[in-house]
Amino acid sequence: MTVFNFSAGPAVLPEPVLLKAQSELLNYRGSFQSVLELSHRSALFEGILDDATSLVRELLNVPDDYEILFLQGGATLQFSMLPMNLAQTKRVDFIDTGGWSQKAIADAAPYASTRIIASSQEDQYRSIPTGPFSSDADYLHVTWNNTLEGTTFREVPQVGVPLVADFSSSILSEPIDVSQFDVIYAGAQKNLGAAGMTLVIMKKNLLRRTPDALGSYLRYDIHAKHHSLYNTPPTYSIYLTKLVLEWMKEEGGLSAITARNRAQAAALYDALDRSTLFSNHVVHENRSLMNIPFSTGDETLDQAFLTYAERHGLVNLKGHRSVGGMRASLYNAMPDAGVEALITVLHTFEQGER
Ligand SMILES: *Cc1c(COP(=O)(O)O)cnc(C)c1O
Repeated sequence: MTVFNFSAGPAVLPEPVLLKAQSELLNYRGSFQSVLELSHRSALFEGILDDATSLVRELLNVPDDYEILFLQGGATLQFSMLPMNLAQTKRVDFIDTGGWSQKAIADAAPYASTRIIASSQEDQYRSIPTGPFSSDADYLHVTWNNTLEGTTFREVPQVGVPLVADFSSSILSEPIDVSQFDVIYAGAQKNLGAAGMTLVIMKKNLLRRTPDALGSYLRYDIHAKHHSLYNTPPTYSIYLTKLVLEWMKEEGGLSAITARNRAQAAALYDALDRSTLFSNHVVHENRSLMNIPFSTGDETLDQAFLTYAERHGLVNLKGHRSVGGMRASLYNAMPDAGVEALITVLHTFEQGER
């Protein structure tokens, strides 16, 4: 049976990437060593790191005055590292768009005074606040794509302070103008590869802000100086990200991936909007392409649907516990056939099949 994995993360990986990793597992490029066994100081691993870095730069069009770092600790460590390094006057502003924003706010609080300049809480996080926004803090933090609530920003907030954005669940799903941001970060396990690595893209002028009294691993300037090789980086996760980025290029690059993502999301939203049983409550202009929550409005029926979908090979559709219902995560690696199968199952369930 074909199984389609709709998990929010760790998530589906492209099959060609897994096959390539398998074929190289025991003997990476004639070295008779596995990537898992390579020294991070070896020429072979440095080649992997260089490829991953230049592929990120190429696919996302990252300007030269930005550093590209591969760190550990997940997106969650960034919630602390950002204020530790960048909050010079100990003031950080946030736009609160849901559960992940809340976590970022809570983790900044020990290092800076935090302020919410806009929130969509009154709207049960079904939308994204609209500007104009104003901030005079050390930086403004936004959660670009809200993995739990299924919302996404469509316009880059314009403020006179550095803009920091959590792109964990939407990195490389659509083109963005990197020059409008000062920091972009994303855990790898959603759109970039395997758990264990976090991509950080940071404008170089921010590296000067790091205060002296900070442990070495926590300093962006040290990671930048050592090109992500200050200590042992997550070597295998970086390798998998390199394979995912190579796969993206082979698929036609970001424009081809974007077109597929938009078509898949449009098809699923259309099916949900036409359904008399299932619905998605996010305002149309802020609907995420990557994470699509939906429900019948009845917990028992939702559970029956989850069981039914699983019997048809559609797994990990359960919604986050804070939102309930179902959630389909359609990351870059989700094949069209997975979305088609989900739409079919929505329909047959609605017709009464169990
Ligand atoms: C998954 C996720 C995180 C947390 O990532 P970890 O790698 O588990 O720390 C943070 N922000 C967003 C938007 C996410 O989707």
